[in-house]
Amino acid sequence: MKLTVKIIAGLVLGILVGVIFNLFAPDAFAPVDKYLFGPVGQIFLNLIKMLVVPIVFFSIVVGTAGISDPKKLGRMGGKTVGFFLVTTTIAISIAMALAYLIKPGVEGSFSGNADFEAQDAPPVMDTIINIIPTNPVQALVEGNMLQIIAFAIFIGFALAILGDRTKALRNLFEQGNDVMMYLVKIIMETAPYGAFALIASAVGGQGKEALQSMGMYFLVVLGALLIHFLFTYGSAIYFLCKENPIKFYKAFAPAMAVAFSTSSSSGTLPVSMKTAQENLKIPKQISSFVQPLGATINMDGTAIMQGVATIFIAQITGVDLTFTQLVIVVVTATLASIGTAGVPGVGLIMLAMVLKQVGLPVEPIGLILAVDRLLDMTRTAVNITGDAAAAMYITKSEEKREGKEVKSVL
Ligand code: ASP
Repeated sequence: MKLTVKIIAGLVLGILVGVIFNLFAPDAFAPVDKYLFGPVGQIFLNLIKMLVVPIVFFSIVVGTAGISDPKKLGRMGGKTVGFFLVTTTIAISIAMALAYLIKPGVEGSFSGNADFEAQDAPPVMDTIINIIPTNPVQALVEGNMLQIIAFAIFIGFALAILGDRTKALRNLFEQGNDVMMYLVKIIMETAPYGAFALIASAVGGQGKEALQSMGMYFLVVLGALLIHFLFTYGSAIYFLCKENPIKFYKAFAPAMAVAFSTSSSSGTLPVSMKTAQENLKIPKQISSFVQPLGATINMDGTAIMQGVATIFIAQITGVDLTFTQLVIVVVTATLASIGTAGVPGVGLIMLAMVLKQVGLPVEPIGLILAVDRLLDMTRTAVNITGDAAAAMYITKSEEKREGKEVKSVL
C-alpha cells in the first residue's frame, strides 16, 4: 500500500507541474519535456513493456498447463468472453444515453475546427483469422498479443496432456514466470517517478484552448467512464462476486495508477496481473488467462469514448441517428473496441470504423484528438479494471462450480 500512495503522489505532483507549465510557462515546456519528462517516462514505459511478451507467454503456458481438463478451459473461455461482451455493451449504452441526455455537440456547447483524415481501421475479420500464428516466433518478436495467447494456450495444453514426460519443460516455464514476476516487483519501485514524468508530459502538452472548446464532450466521456466504473463493475463485484467494491478498487489501485500514467493496457499487463494475483487473490491460473485476453480485446473505456464521440459527431453535424443506426453503433463499437490494441490512442483510430458504418463524417475526429490524451489515460484505467472484474467473476463462479462456498477474501 505504501507504494500505491507514492504512485498517487507522483501522479498528483505530475498533474500540478503539468498545469503550472501550461498556465505560466508554455514555452519552457518543450525543452523540459524533451530532456526530462519525456525520457524518464519513456524509460519507465520501456521497463514494464520489456516484460509484457515473456509474462504473457510464460504465465499462459503455466496457467493452461495447470488445467488438465479441456472442458474447463473451454468453459472459462466462454464465460470470460461472455462477461467481456456484456460489460462492453453496457458501457456503450451508458455512454450513448449520457451523450443523448447532456447533448455535448449541440450548438453553443463547443467550438473549434474539425480537420482529420481517417486512416483505415484494420478489418475485424482479419483480426479473427490471424489469431492463429503461422509463425509463432514472429508473433513473439512482433508482440502480437492474440497470437502469443493462442500459441501459449496450445503449448500449455500439450504440457498438461503429456504430463510427467514434459515435467522439465513445465518447470522451466514456471521458473521463467517467477523471474518475470520478480522483475515486475523491482520495476514497480520506479513507478512513482515514471508516473510523475508521464503525467507531467501529458498535462503540460495539452493545449488549454482545446480543453475549453471541447469541455462538454470531455465531461460526458469522463462521466460515462465514472458511472461504468462505479456501477457496472461495482454491481458485478458486489452481486456476482460477493465482495466489497470499495476494497476491490483499493486493492487494484496500483495497477489503475500505472494504466492512467501509461495509457496502455498491454503495457500495464505485468503490473495488473501481479496486483490481481497478490491483492485481489485471483488464482494465477485464472489471472494469466483472463487478464492478457482482456488487455487485448476487452476495452470498455474505449467503447465508452467511441459511443460518446459518435453521438457527439452526429449532434455537431446535425444528423439524427435512427434506432437501427444506434444498434449498429453499439455492435460496431463493441467490435471496434475488441479490435483496438492496448496501446495509447488507438481507440480513436478505430472510431473511424464506427462512424463510417453509420455514414457520419470522420473529419470531426480532429476535434476529439485535441483532448484525447487525457481521456485515453482515464479510459485505459477503466479498461484494465474491467479485466480484473472479469477475473474476479471467473474465480468466484469456478469456485461455486467446484462446490466451494463463495466467501469474501478481500
Ligand atoms: N489506450 C487504450 C488502452 O490501452 C486504448 C485506446 O482506447 O486507445 O487500453
